[in-house]
Amino acid sequence: MPRGLSVSSTTPTTAVPSAIPWPRTFTDGLPLPKLLAFDLDYTLWPFWVDTHVTPPLKAEAGGLKVKDRYGESYGFYRDVGSVLVAARQKGIKVAAASRTSAPDLGREMLSLLRIPSSTMTNGDDASSTSSKARPSSGGSGSGERAANFFDYLQIYPGSKTTHFAKIRDASGIDYEEMLFFDDEARNRNVETLGVVMCLVRDGVTRDEIDRGVELWRKRNRRERA
Ligand SMILES: [Mg+2]
Repeated sequence: MPRGLSVSSTTPTTAVPSAIPWPRTFTDGLPLPKLLAFDLDYTLWPFWVDTHVTPPLKAEAGGLKVKDRYGESYGFYRDVGSVLVAARQKGIKVAAASRTSAPDLGREMLSLLRIPSSTMTNGDDASSTSSKARPSSGGSGSGERAANFFDYLQIYPGSKTTHFAKIRDASGIDYEEMLFFDDEARNRNVETLGVVMCLVRDGVTRDEIDRGVELWRKRNRRERA
């Protein structure tokens, strides 16, 4: 199936995402982190929720987008839905770790945005595990709330070492089993805990997930099955 480049070249923000193949590292049989953590602003979505977005918010296009008070539209980077679906189907826990000064707005955004059912197919190369998310509508936007894909939400200002300490306490997962994606180098301080951080510059993509997993394997000497 094509990667959907033709769709995104026109209006990247309103097209219904098509199924994108799983990250390659999810099917190569080598070890995977037990938990993926994501920053929000400029990691999962291309805006700062505290400065760009003004409440009240309203879902539009069936939750593909959220409109704010001034009619501006907001949504995830293109590959995010597919990545969240793939992580769930692989049994990898997912956390959000954000230090935004507008935590309520961040949570509301996650609650209003939906992962369209069109992304819930397995892509090209997913042969394993179950498919609990099977519905395949024509992409009307009738999907599942993005918030449902997160096992842990840590959204408040402060050092992200606090966020990760709470994620570890809540999940019982060791720091060494966590892989973190963030666009800001200052948050690399979480690596003092043992978390591996992958710096992303233009948002999370399927390729960035692969890059992060490979980094995590290398750091933890987990490059063999
Ligand atoms: Mg950020």
